[in-house]
Amino acid sequence: MVDLQTQYHRLKTEIDTAMQEVIESSAFINGPAVKQFQSGMVEYLNVKHIITCGNGTDALQAALVALDLQPGDEVITTAFTFIATVEVIGLLNLKPILVDVDLNTYNLIPKQVEAAITPKTKAIIPVHLFGQGADMNRLKEIANKYNLFLVEDGAQSLGACYKTEGGSSKLGTIGDIGCTSFFPSKNLGCFGDGGACITNNDKLAEKLRMFVNHGAKVKYYHKTIGVNSRLDTLQAAILNVKLPHLDDFNQRRQKVAGFYDSAFGDIEEIVLPGRNPESEHVFHQYVLRIKNGKRDDLREWLGKKAIPAMVYYPVALHRQEAFSKWITDDFSLPNSEQLTREVLALPVHTEMTTEQLEYIREGVLSFFG
Ligand SMILES: *Cc1c(COP(=O)(O)O)cnc(C)c1O
Repeated sequence: MVDLQTQYHRLKTEIDTAMQEVIESSAFINGPAVKQFQSGMVEYLNVKHIITCGNGTDALQAALVALDLQPGDEVITTAFTFIATVEVIGLLNLKPILVDVDLNTYNLIPKQVEAAITPKTKAIIPVHLFGQGADMNRLKEIANKYNLFLVEDGAQSLGACYKTEGGSSKLGTIGDIGCTSFFPSKNLGCFGDGGACITNNDKLAEKLRMFVNHGAKVKYYHKTIGVNSRLDTLQAAILNVKLPHLDDFNQRRQKVAGFYDSAFGDIEEIVLPGRNPESEHVFHQYVLRIKNGKRDDLREWLGKKAIPAMVYYPVALHRQEAFSKWITDDFSLPNSEQLTREVLALPVHTEMTTEQLEYIREGVLSFFG
């Protein structure tokens, strides 16, 4: 699904030098590369604050803590996402309210978000799934109307632009806090775990910084209970090399998506990934819908030809045992459930060759005869 090795070899000299510098300096914790990466991201995203941390899940947790949400407060999000988004809501004893997604964009349906609001609702977490923005303009209107916080899960969408009223903003900078991940396979990946919160709000930035640093602003003086969640200097050094390539990485992903679009657009039993006209799509994943119950057969067919294809996500989150405390068995979200049966992700990464793409195209086309 991804080829991290080839990308490393393409950037090897720079990456090895950057890593070697960190090792020689032995400044493994909060070394200069971390600050450099934070400044680089501030500039790239055109935002005031980047708070780096240990991973994207920690970033989401820090965001909810910084908003001072209290046990029992309701947080509305999507049932069709990676577990981390909803996990942190439950972990903090907040109540996850799961809402259905659009069948074509796989992202939250604003009308259903609005319908789920109660007096206990405090925040909405849109996920920019597979690299494309949720309907941020509508969601922001709703958040403003009901005085709710908006936290973006941008773990899959780093670098994508979004058309707002005032012009264009990078995803992750539109809500009160954006969260992202530098997990190796993400659009900007390091060689382990890493994450960050993104915000234009000075007060929230201070709370976020404190939370990931044991609740302390000044060492050994702890104002609140926090956690230890840091981006390693080594990871920051790698990210400093890769950040200037992020736009190119995303363009390479978009080219792959363009190839697949034209290869499979005419097949009746395939639905191409729909586009939100307000959002750029940076294709963390290229996800098709396969109709008529043929998804699993196609996947097996491709497997026999050594073509990887994955199902993101096989179980909607309202069907996860972990959330049974909040969600009853009869609760249903038809679109999310349909997607778990129909979606299939094809390989997309920065190093794909024409030969590979053509092989995948022939593999898929041969299944449909
Ligand atoms: C990867 C991911 C996360 C979590 O990031 P980690 O760095 O793995 O903790 C959260 N949300 C979504 C949508 C993701 O894809």
